[in-house]
Amino acid sequence: MTTDPSQPPNQPDGPDSPWADHSEERFGQLAMSTTTYEYVPPGDDRTKVIFAGRCPRCTHEFTFEWPLEVLRGATRESIEVLCQCASDHKGRPEGEKRGCGAYWASEIEP
Ligand SMILES: [Zn+2]
Ligand SMILES: [Zn+2]
Repeated sequence: MTTDPSQPPNQPDGPDSPWADHSEERFGQLAMSTTTYEYVPPGDDRTKVIFAGRCPRCTHEFTFEWPLEVLRGATRESIEVLCQCASDHKGRPEGEKRGCGAYWASEIEP
């Protein structure tokens, strides 16, 4: 592995990355600045959380929905977000229609 000293350590892999089912700590760190989330619908009837933004690995835009039934309580939760970009990634398995394979943990406030 080569390291370019002119590059900061936390960088996306870029849009041409081959499909790879994996997670790295930097994905979660990058996702804090490249993605946002919102509860829908707004208010007390919310049923899910939608993450949107750019994948911290492939930089493609994506949205990812998480049903709120899975939330356990009124505390801060860590949710596993999967890249759901609509772009092609070399080597994506059949049956996987979206994403570059990257996933990471994002924290949400109740
Ligand atoms: Zn992508
Ligand atoms: Zn991606």
